[in-house]
Amino acid sequence: MTVIIHSARLVTDGTVTDDAWVQMTDAVVTATGTGDAWRERAAGAEIVDAAGDWLTPGFIDIHGHGGGAAAYDDGADAIATAVAVHRAHGTTRSVLSLVTASIDDLAQRARVIADLTASDPLILGSHLEGPFLDVGRKGAHTAELLIAPTPPDIETLLAATNGTLRQITLAPELDGGLEAVRAFVDAGARVAVGHTSADYDETNAAFDAGATLLTHAFNAMNGIHHRAPGPVIAALSRDDVTLEVINDGTHVHPDVVRMLCGQAPGRVALITDAMAAAGAADGAYTLGGLDVMVRSGVARLDDGSATGGSIAGSTLLLDEALRRAVTDVRLPMEQAVDAVTGAPARALGLDATLGSLRPGFAADAVLLGAEFDVRGVWAEGRQLR
Ligand SMILES: [Zn+2]
Repeated sequence: MTVIIHSARLVTDGTVTDDAWVQMTDAVVTATGTGDAWRERAAGAEIVDAAGDWLTPGFIDIHGHGGGAAAYDDGADAIATAVAVHRAHGTTRSVLSLVTASIDDLAQRARVIADLTASDPLILGSHLEGPFLDVGRKGAHTAELLIAPTPPDIETLLAATNGTLRQITLAPELDGGLEAVRAFVDAGARVAVGHTSADYDETNAAFDAGATLLTHAFNAMNGIHHRAPGPVIAALSRDDVTLEVINDGTHVHPDVVRMLCGQAPGRVALITDAMAAAGAADGAYTLGGLDVMVRSGVARLDDGSATGGSIAGSTLLLDEALRRAVTDVRLPMEQAVDAVTGAPARALGLDATLGSLRPGFAADAVLLGAEFDVRGVWAEGRQLR
């Protein structure tokens, strides 16, 4: 099966190429070029006229909890519902995040994701957000379930994930925190510093121990103070660390996102951190057993007050994150696209096959109109939308 998408404004690898075409054969990009040369390859191929629309690699979401009124914590059917919403909005590869739960519950949920990861190449594995988080920065995680890491619990989670643990967020200042960083890195997972009270030095110690991600930069951590630079400055100063950002206009101010992108080019990965209400209606939801109220697309813990408590994940989808990166953060299109494609691929060490539309890369592509409306999505060469 060969698909040729032509007459596109191709955005990949930090450049924009007008009047470009991409040929995808089965699951792989097999050729690219400009102008009319695609016509020589047209026989037997499905031809898509992009008519000047943007063509980008498939989006990669390395941190999200659900969508379409379903949560990744709730088993295979819920996962299928939620990933379908994200795929329709251009996310071709998803890491499935699990909120804090008991070790036994997390192990059971991680086993479900391990099975799905084995059968569905569009699912990249699991992200454990907890339970090794700081109570003082718990956000929408259940305080009673937050614990310090111990070797037996680490072993249980690694056994359950069975090689499919893509990333784990932890607070490195907890007892045993740095040992946990090393254990998870040794097992092949990416370790993210987050939901943490760590200062600059403690964060750098975690990076020295092998952590390479900062979970939703600025949210659930110390901010930047000129005498107490904190985890964000620590992450910015390390060339091997990627900063996740929830670019929904609520979690981080657009000008702050712009500053991060300027300070860490190629190392900002836009994530959704989406909960079940993404791609679904406002109203009452639960997140990891906590009540959440969604008003005007903003999810907050339902503490009985009129405005609600802590922000509890987002209702963001990556096409919207990309649109805001261009319109609100004012990034050039090629840099904005990198933040949802190349940067997350590099953060996971998957950039030999994902995050680009060069020949040899996965046939994951998104066609976007002038208003960032998703007009087509292909994953492994199959059209999903
Ligand atoms: Zn999260």
